[in-house]
Amino acid sequence: MTIDVVSIFPEYLAGLQLSLIGKAVDRGQLALNVRDLRDFTFDRHNTVDDSPYGGGAGMVMKAEPWALALEEILASRPGDVQAAQPSGGAQPTDGAQLIAGAKPTGGAKPTLIVPSPAGEVFDQRIAEDLASRQHLVFACGRYEGIDQRVIDWAGEHFELRPMSIGDYVLNGGEVASMVMIEAISRLIPGVIGNPESLTEESHEDGLLEYPIYTKPASWRGRDVPEILLSGNHAAIARWRRDRRLERTAEVRPDLLARLSDLSRDDQAALE
Ligand code: SAM
Repeated sequence: MTIDVVSIFPEYLAGLQLSLIGKAVDRGQLALNVRDLRDFTFDRHNTVDDSPYGGGAGMVMKAEPWALALEEILASRPGDVQAAQPSGGAQPTDGAQLIAGAKPTGGAKPTLIVPSPAGEVFDQRIAEDLASRQHLVFACGRYEGIDQRVIDWAGEHFELRPMSIGDYVLNGGEVASMVMIEAISRLIPGVIGNPESLTEESHEDGLLEYPIYTKPASWRGRDVPEILLSGNHAAIARWRRDRRLERTAEVRPDLLARLSDLSRDDQAALE
C-alpha cells in the first residue's frame, strides 16, 4: 500500500516512522510519503489560506495549492496518470511538478481521505475496508477547512471519503490522519507480527475485549482470575466471552444492540 499525506505541518507525521508502522515502511510493506502543502504555492509568503466568502470567523484553505499537490500525487502513480502540459503563469517550486489537468489513465482511483468533523465517522469496519486499497491519500485541513470546490474536483479523480474520527473538533487533520493511518495499516497482512492478535481485539466482532493479565499471578493483593491459570482452554474461552459480553453491555450497550447472533450461553452471561 502507498499512503500519501499532504499537510502544512509535515513534521507532525514524523511519529509514523516509529514502532510497527515505521518497521513496515523499512520492510517495504508500506510506502509513506508526506508532502508540504506550502511547496505548491508560488507567492513570497507561501499563502495557503484566505478569508471566507460570505463572511464569518476564521480562514479557509485555498483550492489551488491543494489541486497542485493532489495532481502531483496522481502523476506520481507509475503508469496510472497522463500528465497534461503546465498551464497558466505559475511556476512550480523545487520538487513540485505543475501538471494542471492530469488525468488518471487506468486502474483503480486512489482513495482521498479528507479528515473533517463533518465526515462519516471512522470505525473498525471502515479501517478494514480501506486496508484493502492500494493507494490512500490524506488531505490534512487546517483553519476552517478546505475550499469545497477542490474537494468536489478531487471527487472526479479520487474515491472521495470525508472522514471524522469522532464528534469533537481538532485544530487540524494531522492527528486524525495519524489515527486512521495507524488503524488501517496495522490490518495490512504482515504489519503486525502475530495476525491472531488482530482477530481477538475490541471491535473486530462487535464486542469489546476481555480483561487481560500478565505475571505475577498475585500483585499487591490482587490475584489473576483462577480460571486463567487452569489450563482449561474451553473454560477460558467461555470466561473471556462472558467478560466481553458483560463489558460491552456496561460500557457500550449500543454495540451489543447491533449483535443478532447471541447464543443461549451468551444470553445467560448477560442476565
Ligand atoms: N470548520 C470545521 C467544521 O466546523 O466542521 C472545523 C475545522 S477544524 C478547526 C480544522 C481541521 O481539523 C479540519 O479541516 C479537519 O481536517 C480537522 N478535524 C477537526 N476535527 C476533526 C475530526 N473530528 N475528525 C477529523 N478531522 C478533524
